Amino acid sequence: MIGPNGDFRSKVASQVRSKPRQARFRGPITRRDFVNGVAAGAGAALTAGPVSALGQAASRAPLLAPGADWYGYGGVGPYRHSHGNTPEVVESAHRILDGQVPLDPDQLESVEETDLAIVGGGMAGLGVALEFSLRRRDGQSCVLLDNHPMIGGEAKENEFLVNGERLIAPQGANGFFVPEAPRDLSEARGDPYYYAELGIPREFTFAAWPQDRKPLRFCRDNYGYLVAGLQQHASVAHFFDGGGGGAGSWAVDMFRNQLADTPLAESSRRNLLAWFESGAARHFDSPEQARRLLDTMSYEEFLRNELKLGDAGARYADLFLASACGLGSDCVSAYAAYQMPMPGLFGPMPAGMRRVSFPGGNSGFVRYFLKRLIPDSIQGGASFEDIITRPVNTAALDRPGRPIRMRTSSTAVHVSHDGAPGQAGSVSVIYQRNGRYHAIRAKAVVMATGSWINPYIVRDLPPAYREACASFLHAPFLVANVALTNWRFLYRLGITAAIWDRQEDGFGFTCNIRSPMHVGDYRPPLDPDKPAVLSFYTPYHSPGLDPKAQVTLGRAELLARSYPEYESRIYRQMMRLFGAAGFDPAVDVAGLVLNRWGHAYSVPYPGFYGGANGTAPRDTLRNNYGRIAFAHSELDGNQHYGPAADEGRRAYRQLADAL
Ligand SMILES: Cc1cc2nc3c(=O)[nH]c(=O)nc-3n(C[C@H](O)[C@H](O)[C@H](O)COP(=O)(O)OP(=O)(O)OC[C@H]3O[C@@H](n4cnc5c(N)ncnc54)[C@H](O)[C@@H]3O)c2cc1C
Repeated sequence: MIGPNGDFRSKVASQVRSKPRQARFRGPITRRDFVNGVAAGAGAALTAGPVSALGQAASRAPLLAPGADWYGYGGVGPYRHSHGNTPEVVESAHRILDGQVPLDPDQLESVEETDLAIVGGGMAGLGVALEFSLRRRDGQSCVLLDNHPMIGGEAKENEFLVNGERLIAPQGANGFFVPEAPRDLSEARGDPYYYAELGIPREFTFAAWPQDRKPLRFCRDNYGYLVAGLQQHASVAHFFDGGGGGAGSWAVDMFRNQLADTPLAESSRRNLLAWFESGAARHFDSPEQARRLLDTMSYEEFLRNELKLGDAGARYADLFLASACGLGSDCVSAYAAYQMPMPGLFGPMPAGMRRVSFPGGNSGFVRYFLKRLIPDSIQGGASFEDIITRPVNTAALDRPGRPIRMRTSSTAVHVSHDGAPGQAGSVSVIYQRNGRYHAIRAKAVVMATGSWINPYIVRDLPPAYREACASFLHAPFLVANVALTNWRFLYRLGITAAIWDRQEDGFGFTCNIRSPMHVGDYRPPLDPDKPAVLSFYTPYHSPGLDPKAQVTLGRAELLARSYPEYESRIYRQMMRLFGAAGFDPAVDVAGLVLNRWGHAYSVPYPGFYGGANGTAPRDTLRNNYGRIAFAHSELDGNQHYGPAADEGRRAYRQLADAL
């Protein structure tokens, strides 16, 4: 709680730093009026109250204040101060969860009015903003708040400069299948809609692998090498540690070679191959039929009980499932596995499906949204090259008088109707920026944020919504990007992607270098003697433990370690894997960026989609109450850019009449 401040009390309205616009749907308001209105709407529960009761139940990591050595190196360029959750975001989240939020008029620095407020600047929040831009009436305005220094949520990028080479890598969301062009844009939704609406190209150039080098295959994103049906496009090897300090052994392209080079027992081999090659062992007439049958069991149960397979396949499946959903096959609904798609539920990939990744992963989509919504927020023109490779102009995001303003490093701490939700004419949002509190009064608000935090912010949230929020399970994730001066050690091994059995004191499970997309003058090399980024996509799953325990332990591990601890763990793991092939961190590593995501994924557990009877908690959250609606990729279960933005589009439409 910020203590009483005498100076504040004596300030007059003219000293308010960002002056309120002339109100269009009410008279001008003072800070005290504002707080009185909020109090009327939120009842007595203004600070702690029911919120902190919920707080007791929250599964939280013990760390409250990240130390000075927590965040670490951030690379170069505008994203260097916004890689993963910042220490400020972690601290403010914990303050919100603890109910330490003031509601004192004298602590409000400014009061502003707008038509629509959006909380959250990830793909869902941007989806709201895009729909607003397409449908708004003259004079309508919108303010988007995000708590990170850069817009994009989990779709951001890291940038490195290594020996004169500019290298861009994803911080999180990284790949997609190029969608078909829709026949009728007005009917389109999901990936095809945004792709067409934003005018994103469908043809790309990738770095060519020199003919005079030994043949190697490269994934174009950071997932494909884990997926049956895509793995063959990468030179991927599995490292069997063996434990006991021995040398360990590599099995390159192990499924292609029928697991012949692996030290696995015969029964494990049979089981693993049977799983990998199981194709579409079950057929469904419709996704609805699949959902009703599959959403009653975990993928592991499906493999064990329906396909009569042992655990080897389930454990291998964990690598991809936990990377894409946060936890492994013991916790993830078989219906989510069907959507992924995973062996046993899906045959060969349809011909012509192309999976690619922009230089910064899905940050490319964020850039397209920004360019559309605030054209000068990305320097240069509207070409693919300019949008993808030119710096984000953060100064342009929040210009007075613009219909859409985006405010970064702004954490919403309190949202409530100004009166009873069914009758109130507005919603109040209090947010914190640079240690100061500001307020917005909007005709409607979209919470494009996760259920793990929403009940602590939205103070008049009805019990049914609180219950629905509590049903979500959020898993942490770490993307560690290691900028290399060269990757000769991988070349010597004949691989571009690695998978390993993690030992007790080890780090991660998988890593790879992508075949980089070339965009205009951005032409990173693909040469083992030259720089590249090695990306470790690292989930925190502990198969067999209670799912809540898994995410709580995982978050503790993600957040509690300092940057230097991670650094030494990662280099130790790399020495274990690649030391014999000549890896030397002192020579080969140019920089390491950690992107920590405390609540990266909403885990689609069995029943998430409604199980056999078809209704699910997310259905509750897809209904607005009063002038507040919810939009986040978590509601879809399959966290993906198109469905995320669709949730935003849906939320906007629910509120459009209130604007
Ligand atoms: C490691 C990883 C890999 C992924 N890979 C892919 C992929 O390959 N392809 C794909 O399509 N998707 C991928 N995803 C999924 C990705 O999360 C979604 O596609 C999408 O980007 C999520 O958007 P969102 O808006 O729902 O959520 P988020 O990205 O979480 O955005 C929500 C924003 O709201 C902010 N916020 C929260 N609380 C507040 C507050 N109180 N005040 C202000 N702001 C707040 C958050 O900090 C965040 O910036 C991946 C995700 C992760 C974590």
